[in-house]
Amino acid sequence: MQKRVYLDHNATAPHAENLKSRWNELIDLSGNPSSIHQDSRAPKTHLRETRQIISQYLNSSPLEVIFNSGASEGNNSVLKSIWVLLGSRKPEIIISAVEHPSVMNTAKYLQSLGATIHVVPVSREGEFDFNFFKAKLSEKTALVSVMFANNETGTIFPIAEIAKLAHAAGALMHSDCVQLLGKNLTSFASLDVDYATFSGHKFYSLKGTGFTYVKKNSPWVSLIHGGGQERGRRGGTENLTGIAALGIVFENIQFAHESVQRMQKLRDLMEENILKNISAVTVTAQKQNRLSNTSSLVIDHVDGETLLMSLDLKGFAVSTGAACSSGNPEPSPVLLAIGLSRDEAQSSLRISLGWSTSEENIQDFVLTLTQVVYKLREINQNEKTGSYDR
Ligand code: PLP
Repeated sequence: MQKRVYLDHNATAPHAENLKSRWNELIDLSGNPSSIHQDSRAPKTHLRETRQIISQYLNSSPLEVIFNSGASEGNNSVLKSIWVLLGSRKPEIIISAVEHPSVMNTAKYLQSLGATIHVVPVSREGEFDFNFFKAKLSEKTALVSVMFANNETGTIFPIAEIAKLAHAAGALMHSDCVQLLGKNLTSFASLDVDYATFSGHKFYSLKGTGFTYVKKNSPWVSLIHGGGQERGRRGGTENLTGIAALGIVFENIQFAHESVQRMQKLRDLMEENILKNISAVTVTAQKQNRLSNTSSLVIDHVDGETLLMSLDLKGFAVSTGAACSSGNPEPSPVLLAIGLSRDEAQSSLRISLGWSTSEENIQDFVLTLTQVVYKLREINQNEKTGSYDR
């Protein structure tokens, strides 16, 4: 069987090894944590302990953690809560131009209900336009929502600085922190945000589970009204298997932090060798503060989708942009938003490393990428000159 090398960790991460070895424990967690009888004890314990572990990581109170189905739900909940509770007094929301669709499309929806949405431009180098931001920030701003790091380019935003300005103007601050966990060592507490959203499957755990940090006393309405779970802040019987799995993966937090430097070294080595081997390649925002594991390339004269499929056939899983928009022939909106041309965006490739990526994987990948790019460019050239043998 062909050896597979997975280099698409920003789309989703494989299940952590310690999680796989404890499947049976999870399968047996069938009780309802809200019940009174003894069968609810194990689920209750997992719920409490996972909340505790996560709040330690966040340096928060366990009461500031709300479990949910992931970051799309978290992002919807934050923006909609703000609109419902503050919209009549403060109808304006500021977001960046490169937010995930779960922020971008929620903002568009709120705009259709009467909200004013300001979209802060982001440069090709991943720089947040502070002049634009300051010009739009006012006492009418209810919320500023800027992601910690972009999932496609890996560029990191100065969230603490943005939060300071937002707070000074009387606005609340939200950050989509999905790509922070396990990929960067910034302490969450230093960001000083009022809301932050996280997703389990980006952190080697199960899909359909996540959590949202909601600072004490921050406005909040439940997106799902139900039986009072999560202190009435998110109805529905908790996804106990997913939550317990998240707790198990969080036991690796030290290892996750140690992996950051290792991934960065491998990523830098990979970029160095790609630039050495292949002409006309640009690494987007290479000199900027980026996630340790992410590389976004523009490879001229090669179609990204064709490249992705060729690499897939040779055993390498990468991405051309956000996984949720793959299958969509349009180039990535994020890459267009930062100023790449359509051609450049269509020639882009995202490589995202993970805990188990080895130096050998990277060497194999660079070699295969080099061969495939040369082959595709040759075919392109022959098609243009008409000398391609059909
Ligand atoms: N925000 C960012 C930055 C993401 O990368 C993703 C996943 O692609 C999400 C939000 C959505 O997360 P989930 O899959 O948990 O809904």
